[in-house]
Amino acid sequence: MKRAYDVVVIGSGPAGLAAASACASEGLRCACLAPAPAGGWQQTYACWVDELADLGLDDLFSHRWHDVRVVDGQRRLAGQSYGLIDVPRFQQRLLSACRAHNVDFMPGCALRIRLRPGGSCDVLTADGREIHAAVCIDASGRGAFAMPRQAAGSIAWQTAWGIRAEVAGHPWPDGCMELMDFRPVCADDQGPASFLYALPLSKSEVFVEETVLAARPRVPVESLQLRLRQRLEGMGLRVLKVVKTERCEIPLNQALPRRAQRVLGFGAAGGMVQPATGYSVARSLAAARPLALAIAQGLERGGSPGRASRAAWHSLWPGQALRARSVHLFGLEMLLRRSAADTRAFFNGFFALPAELVRDFLAPTAPTTRLIHAMLGAGLHLKPSLGGSIAAFGISRAGRSLMRNLVSNAGGTP
Ligand SMILES: Cc1cc2nc3c(=O)[nH]c(=O)nc-3n(C[C@H](O)[C@H](O)[C@H](O)COP(=O)(O)OP(=O)(O)OC[C@H]3O[C@@H](n4cnc5c(N)ncnc54)[C@H](O)[C@@H]3O)c2cc1C
Repeated sequence: MKRAYDVVVIGSGPAGLAAASACASEGLRCACLAPAPAGGWQQTYACWVDELADLGLDDLFSHRWHDVRVVDGQRRLAGQSYGLIDVPRFQQRLLSACRAHNVDFMPGCALRIRLRPGGSCDVLTADGREIHAAVCIDASGRGAFAMPRQAAGSIAWQTAWGIRAEVAGHPWPDGCMELMDFRPVCADDQGPASFLYALPLSKSEVFVEETVLAARPRVPVESLQLRLRQRLEGMGLRVLKVVKTERCEIPLNQALPRRAQRVLGFGAAGGMVQPATGYSVARSLAAARPLALAIAQGLERGGSPGRASRAAWHSLWPGQALRARSVHLFGLEMLLRRSAADTRAFFNGFFALPAELVRDFLAPTAPTTRLIHAMLGAGLHLKPSLGGSIAAFGISRAGRSLMRNLVSNAGGTP
């Protein structure tokens, strides 16, 4: 079967539905192909409150915390609020927007993409269908169906094990959550530095997760499962009933797609995971409308698919986003070379910075000057031996490569 669309989106996660609804609301004829287009999302999504507030979506939070603690359960990120997204409501909101603008949902799996001479493409599905569209958006998540892959050994992973549980009380006052409690699980803790992420949902329910921010090779989730149990026991937090478990494995540094290619990468498939946090949902939501506008303008008045793709790539990766990614990747590489003790010491210094600077570093993108300011500022709070070894890393090959990237992306999208 052949059908002509302006846009076909592969994937119906947050990125796919955000892209499909935004494209359709710009008047583009849009199809969305995924194995189960309305299948329930399982992840526990959260982000900074202002990220959804800026998009007029802050009614999607089920919980908010205005007292965000870091490092040792005492230190606060002043003026920052964090929120837990009501995932079923979030998904329904995007699905409704898609349906309201007549997105054609197609259950199925993309197998291959065939580019046509004029620049449009056919998506070939596992069950033998062909979907013909001017522009194809790959939003197929970390598997990145149509995007380039890199050697598995070079990938750095965030791993976590979490539970949503009924508990016999917990230590957090109202409005307080732990973003990264880096205290060791026990006095002779020998493992990689992991932290507790804790979202108190009521006086008797919590979501708690033990996370290794970044490691290469990947830390097995099972070891974090054990650590979480030990940590909760050490805190005297008694679990009465586990309501839900969450296994989390996020590749942090997947290769950016080549931006000369026709197929657009979006969300986790498009390298939009922030390498320093593993987050991408808020960025995908914010980027969906500019992406849709760029495609619509590119196709206007008989514009070619190639023109639309180029405009779309530019909207996704302006110079600032490319530079921010280079700095975040540099920070990631620096972190991957630290021992557990040095990782804890580094975050002790990092979270001693003014909260706005910390937030800028953790945001999807920020001006390079702010990011470098944050890295240098964190260095000033470190003991000389650690500061010295980080400075040495800064002038190593990684530092020189960062400088090259900053210079080559200085003027905007290449
Ligand atoms: C457990 C967990 C918790 C996370 N929590 C957060 C968080 O709190 N905040 C945050 O910002 N990020 C979080 N992340 C990271 C990231 O934002 C998520 O991975 C997010 O789901 C990425 O969205 P996406 O739409 O790009 O991809 P996905 O959600 O992975 O969606 C991919 C879609 O593509 C479909 N698909 C795959 N292959 C094909 C194919 N060949 N053909 C057709 N369809 C295909 C899939 O079925 C799915 O619909 C978390 C990740 C995990 C794993």
